[in-house]
Amino acid sequence: MNILVINSGSSSVKYKLFNMKDESVLAEGMVDRIGMKNAFITHKAFSKDSENVFKSEMDIPNYEIALNLIMNMLVDNTYGVINSINEITAIGHRVVHGGEYISSSVLITEEVERIIKECFDLAPLHNPPNMMGISACKKLLPEIPQVAVFDTAFHITIPRYAYLYAIPYGLYEQYSIRRYGFHGTSHRYVANKAAELLKIPLTEIKMVTCHLGNGCSITAIKEGKSVDTSMGFTPLEGLIMGTRSGDIDPMIVFYLIDRAGMTPQEINSMLNRDSGLLGLSGISRDMRDIIDSAIKGNERAKTTIKCFTYRIQKYIGAYAACMDGIDCIVFTAGIGENSSYIRSMICENLNYLGVKIDEELNSVNGKLSIISHEDSKVKVLVIPTNEELMIARDTAEIVSENLYIQDHESNLQRS
Ligand code: ADP
Repeated sequence: MNILVINSGSSSVKYKLFNMKDESVLAEGMVDRIGMKNAFITHKAFSKDSENVFKSEMDIPNYEIALNLIMNMLVDNTYGVINSINEITAIGHRVVHGGEYISSSVLITEEVERIIKECFDLAPLHNPPNMMGISACKKLLPEIPQVAVFDTAFHITIPRYAYLYAIPYGLYEQYSIRRYGFHGTSHRYVANKAAELLKIPLTEIKMVTCHLGNGCSITAIKEGKSVDTSMGFTPLEGLIMGTRSGDIDPMIVFYLIDRAGMTPQEINSMLNRDSGLLGLSGISRDMRDIIDSAIKGNERAKTTIKCFTYRIQKYIGAYAACMDGIDCIVFTAGIGENSSYIRSMICENLNYLGVKIDEELNSVNGKLSIISHEDSKVKVLVIPTNEELMIARDTAEIVSENLYIQDHESNLQRS
């Protein structure tokens, strides 16, 4: 079974074709700058021990043309990996927001499309392009089933007392203002992988998963379910990120309007694009650059790293308190997977929880590993995330169930 995973963003479409027999990646790539000058495609086809790369600039005015291009690459004589598009069993789409309605991955029906559209207001930068990707695939490949995998779905289990903000209740009722949480597919993937690695059923572990990439979020997981997460109504809340501020006092916004004469749009842009690691350090949004500067003695870089790790320590402590202790901490995404320096700083104040890092084990980066001492009460793990594989697995599962139901129904009709 081959599953094509599509992630359509505001001006790009990323794709990965999986062979689900062994979960290997047959091809992957990206169409970028859709509708802009200098649009291009990068395509990689993998065979046993080599990869064949194609790169080209071309005119790509819309999503339909982008997806058509992708399909042509997949069956291309030189760069293709399948003989015909019919060898794709199903397509799995990443969709950011499913609001309060969606609790798991689903086969895309008219009703599901309606829900994705209803959430346009909640995720204006993400859901519309996600939907454009779905519509283009439906038009090009009407016979191939399509599945939506939502970033918010994993967090649907967060209890009411944790998702409500203490603002007038009517605003929740009228405008759906509440915590939703994001990065759900990543948190779910690493939580399952952690349970597998520790050889303990997921339902028996109290876990905190730290997704530390350009966007950062942290999730409390109990009995295999998300019970709290740091991102909120939007992905701005919570941890310090590459360019996003994370938690701030909301009154700062009004103060800046009054005292600095900033417009709401300027403040929106400042909080999302000019803050976080970039805003604090004045150096870069890239943690590697900040660590380099800190090592050379730059004081602002040192403070930025301290702010970043301190915020994470606060959340780990809070989530441990909410769950009456934790058994496991997982680090994932660019910073979490690759920076032993940051992991070490985060864990240095967690002795009270029973966290003991083994610095030798912690020096391994980018690989699935346990980095805590053998006698550490709380296990600390590094797990490379793989959201695309999770999307492919969900898609394969849903499609298999559906094919089974269809087969079963047609058998019943025949008998
Ligand atoms: P995205 O959220 O865009 O998927 P990634 O998960 O790729 O982002 O993470 C990007 C972040 O990971 C950047 O801040 C980058 O500096 C950081 N990163 C990658 N490798 C390292 C490393 N070796 N040390 C520290 N940070 C790293």
